[in-house]
This record gives sequence, structure tokens and C-alpha cells, in this order.
Amino acid sequence: MDRPEPFRDLDWDPKRARELGERALDLWVELLEKLPDLPIGRRERAEEVRAAVSLDVPDEPMPLDDLMAHLRSVVLEHSMYPGHPGFMAYVSGAGTIPGVAGDLIAAAVNQNVGGWRLSPAASEIEMQLTKWLAAQFGLPEGSGGLLTSGGAMANFIGLKAARDAKGGKEVRARGVQGEPRMTLYASEEVHLVVDRAADMLGLGTQACRHIAVDDRFRMRPDEVRRSIELDLTDRSRPIAIIASAGSVATGSIDPLNELADLAEEYGLWLHVDGAYGGPGVLADDLRPLYAGIERADSITFDPHKWLYTPHSGGCVVVRDLAGLGESFGVYPSYIYQDLDATGRGTDFAQMGPQFSRGFQALKVWVSLLAHGRAAYAQRISHDAALARYLDARATEHPEFEVMAPTVLSICCFRYVPPGLPATGPGRDDYLDELNGRLMTELQLDGRAYCSNAVLNGRFVLRACIVNFRTEAEEIDTLLDVAAEIGARFDATMRPGGLR
Ligand SMILES: *Cc1c(COP(=O)(O)O)cnc(C)c1O
Repeated sequence: MDRPEPFRDLDWDPKRARELGERALDLWVELLEKLPDLPIGRRERAEEVRAAVSLDVPDEPMPLDDLMAHLRSVVLEHSMYPGHPGFMAYVSGAGTIPGVAGDLIAAAVNQNVGGWRLSPAASEIEMQLTKWLAAQFGLPEGSGGLLTSGGAMANFIGLKAARDAKGGKEVRARGVQGEPRMTLYASEEVHLVVDRAADMLGLGTQACRHIAVDDRFRMRPDEVRRSIELDLTDRSRPIAIIASAGSVATGSIDPLNELADLAEEYGLWLHVDGAYGGPGVLADDLRPLYAGIERADSITFDPHKWLYTPHSGGCVVVRDLAGLGESFGVYPSYIYQDLDATGRGTDFAQMGPQFSRGFQALKVWVSLLAHGRAAYAQRISHDAALARYLDARATEHPEFEVMAPTVLSICCFRYVPPGLPATGPGRDDYLDELNGRLMTELQLDGRAYCSNAVLNGRFVLRACIVNFRTEAEEIDTLLDVAAEIGARFDATMRPGGLR
């Protein structure tokens, strides 16, 4: 056969790499410079965005100028910006600047952090980072974890470890059919990815008992006990308590020590979902709120939320790192290795559901190194102070009502128009509808941006500050714009009976 000739079209010269890289860098810096002046959200519908960004893949290379012009339009004209100073919705970190550089380098070095041999430095960095993070929560020697796509996957991994540790070793092979049925205990306020994890684990969403909360949205330990006792008399096998440390709606922190006591008493796994709130342990003034977190068997938290690193990257840390290997390890024959020859590094492919894995740890590690722990501690504390400022401003403002205690960096409130009767039939329903429309319009308007929660069945506006660009000025703007839009809708929407 003919000897194949070299084909090098995909192997660009480093000079071209520099040209492309510099243009990408220019776009990034342009975005950073323009960010405060861009609209946070836009009135652009799905079909308009689709038409603007879709391209057919050409047979021949797209000219670089055209390609960059297209990317510039994607970035500056059809995206939305969690890093905008006014973005306070959901839980989306602003995106650290060192993290972007870390991601570029991570992509450049292109490690497969599934196998130690394929990623020696990257594996050791991920190991060191996750051990350091575990230590921040007060977990002991022998703890550690791994980076994940986000909190959803981190919770899944924590609960898979719980299922396998408490359900018996054979559950991996045998599955979960038959009795006893395994049950989990989490509050009504827990993030629904926990229910989805129960589904993915074969336990079914009904295995997740949703326990009542107190008037501060914290899971009630007495109700947990009652539910466990009930299940024990009903041929079920309780396996885990899932505490929220920073619930997604209000930021409430479940009573961790009391739940740890219960977990100990009944021999259950304690998983803490700190996807949002976890990094709060770094802030001196918030740390006491997390007392008891050091007793957890596993903890979820999201660097892409309150460590502000670029999407995506969550993390799970466990008390017993070796247990993850027992829960996830699989050993295909095509991966032969002489561990003694390489010093027994960790293969992260054996610690979680992913086999090939990217170098997600780098952007987190580089961000922590570049900023230092103190700046993180102070900014996290500052975010919480801004939420308290919003709480105070909304409380004193005659047209707003604060709807939940402000514990971390979330404040829940609602707009109440002037002249609305203080009580009366239909009042709360009207406020639900008014605030719902207000939020939608606020998001389309683009000057400020928050999201919502539903608390005790009522629609509320919700601002969550995990954004190192947000300051008091943006809080003031949020309330000003919300009051303006609220008054505008109220003028046309209010039913006669409420006048
Ligand atoms: C965001 C969040 C999740 C889901 O995490 P993702 O990173 O979006 O996958 C789970 N639990 C809580 C408390 C959260 O705030």
C-alpha cells in the first residue's frame, strides 16, 4: 500500500496559535472593559438568538476575521453576564479573572485527569486542592475529594457513597431491588437535584423524605427523628441525612450538630449540601454558622458559585477518601499499570462516575493562589454584608417587605405597592402575580437582575450575591428599578377589590 503522506491541516503553527490566542485575549479584555455598560439581560427571544448565532459548518476554513467577528457578536451581543456588577440571580459566581487564565492553560496542556499517568501534575494538584478544601470544613486527615461538573453531580457522588456504605457492599452488583427500601432525609427546602440523585441511584424520588422546616427555613430535627422512626417500623432502611448549609432559596443552614447527633444515633451517613453556602466557612464572621459541618461524611460545594470560578466546577469532599474508590472503582483490562513503577498516584477515574476528566481543578487552584485566602474570606464576608444591607434597605422602604431571615448572601423580599390594603381576600394572590410579572420584566429590562423563590407558597424576589463586582450601588439600583416596574404594573393590574 502507498505510504500515507503527512496531513497537517489541523496542526497549526505556534505562530498561528499566538495570533488566534491574542485575538481571543482581546475579546476577553474587551468584555471585561465593557461589562458594566452591557445590559445584564436582553429582550431577545430564542428564535432571534438562534438566527444570530447559528452557522453551517463550512467545508473550507472560515477566514479568521469572520470567525472572530462572529465570536465577538456571540460574546457581546447575545450572551448574559453573571459577572456583571448588577447580576444577583440564582447562584452563579462572577467568574474569576485568574480562573480564565487557568482554564486556558488547562485546555492547552490537555490532561486527562482520569488517570494519574495521563495527568501527573494535574492529579496531584486536584488531590492537594481537594484535601485543602476538605480541611477548611474541618474534615480530618484521610479526607479529600474531587472536582465535578457542579453541585448536582457532587451531591450524586456523595449519596452514591452513602448508598454503598450503608446499603451493603453487594448493592453495587445486586442493585437496589427488593426490601428493605433505602430512605433519605432532607428538608422541604433542599435542592431538587437531591431527589434526582435518589432517582439516578435507583432509590426513586419517593425515597427522599422531605422534612418540615421551622420558621427560619431550617430542617426540624424532631421531625427527622419522627420520620426515621416511622420508616424503621415500615420495613425501610434509613441510610442518610442530607443537611443544607445554605439552602438555595433563602440560604438557611440546617442545625448541623443536631443532625450529626441523629446520624450518629441511627448510624446514618451525614451529607451536607453546601453547593451554594459551603465556601462561607472561609469567612471568619460566617464560620460559626457552620458549627458541626466537620462531622459530615460528605460535603458538596461549588467553586463556580461562591468561590467565583468560571463555570463549570463543583466539588465533593468526603471524610473517607478511600470509600469513593470502593463505590466507583472499575478496572478495565486495557488499563494495565505497574503501580510500583509510578509511585501509586490516584486515578480519579476510579473515584467518581466520569472516566476521562478535564483539568477543572486548575482554575480553582490558580484563583486561590492568585488572590490568596484572605481576599476570599473578606469578599465572601462582604457579599453577606451587602445582603444584609439589602435586607435593611428593603425593610425601611415602604414598598418592600423582607420575606426570610438573611443569613448568608441571599435576601428574599417582595414589592408591596402603596395603598394596598394591609389584609383582605386576594391580597397575597395579587402580590404573587404582581411580583412574578415584576421579576420577568426586571430580567428583560437589563438594568438590574434578580430571580425568585417561593416561600410558604408565596412568590418572592430573591437576590443572591456571589459576585465580587456587586456593591451597594447595585443594591440601590435593584430596589429602584424593582419599585419603578412594580408601580408601573400595579397601576394597570390591581383588581378593583384591592383599591
Ligand atoms: C446550585 C445548587 C445545587 C446544584 O448545583 P449545580 O452546580 O447547579 O449543579 C445543589 N444544591 C444547592 C444548595 C445549590 O445551591
